[in-house]
Amino acid sequence: MRLIIRPNDRYPHLGLDRRPLAIACGEGWLGILHAFFTEADKVMAAGGSFTLQQVGEKTGGLRVRFDTAGVAPDARRAIDDACRLALARSYHICEVCGRRGRPTNFGGLWKVVCSEHADGEFGEGLHFEGPLNAHDPYFPEADPFVAGRPTVTEYDSAPLIEGWLIEEESEGDPRPWLYGWFFGEPHTSDGEHGHTSPIVQMDDMVPPRWVRTDSRLYRLGIYYPPAEREIRYWAQKLSRRPVPYGEPPGGSDDIEAMLAFLRSSGRLRSTTIDRLEQTYREEPGHVQEVGKVRTT
Ligand SMILES: [Zn+2]
Repeated sequence: MRLIIRPNDRYPHLGLDRRPLAIACGEGWLGILHAFFTEADKVMAAGGSFTLQQVGEKTGGLRVRFDTAGVAPDARRAIDDACRLALARSYHICEVCGRRGRPTNFGGLWKVVCSEHADGEFGEGLHFEGPLNAHDPYFPEADPFVAGRPTVTEYDSAPLIEGWLIEEESEGDPRPWLYGWFFGEPHTSDGEHGHTSPIVQMDDMVPPRWVRTDSRLYRLGIYYPPAEREIRYWAQKLSRRPVPYGEPPGGSDDIEAMLAFLRSSGRLRSTTIDRLEQTYREEPGHVQEVGKVRTT
């Protein structure tokens, strides 16, 4: 798979917008790439030029090739270290989906995949079970970037949040949390609306499929843009019942019917509903673009 990243405003010191940037690896590694670009961009803010030559998968790992000019030796070392870290991380993250993975042999072809993707588009693979870091000081369990990612088993058994929304700041805690309708959560009845504890780490896939909070891992279900979500929230709340599993919050996908229901209920100010409706009509109807990443 080829990915195109449009990082012009995100990494202003890397000059990545000087030419189209084609990246030949799976989107499961986008988070690794963004972490590398973030570090390189920080270093390059001091001056000099950075030219990205190539990004791709080679013998299972993520290779990033680049040139620098006019940078101090310690700055270059810092970028080289970030590049080595990206490669080390890639041996532990599924290239397809971004969950925990292992180098896996597909009839001679090495790919880093999770247990789900060990039997998929590349055929049926055999996980490499030996230690990876015999000659390498990198320990994935000591790197929260990797250690916080779910394995397939953990992901499959995690509770689900449908209609999730990020609340950016809450009562003095600068860390965001999520609102949504919960399913399979031990402390919340199925289909009840609630919020999580603060977010520790979130999937870097688009759209994200999991989030780790202070208390636990969740799978993320469907995402609605904020105004549509708020209409669904009120329609669901005024119906006085939890969301049945598998049904959309608000009862259906008929937003017009929900708006009519809200108006007929007499429970919300009509100006509030007017504002909701207007925001909804102006809202882009697609899944929110996270991190300005597009796949082709
Ligand atoms: Zn995977």
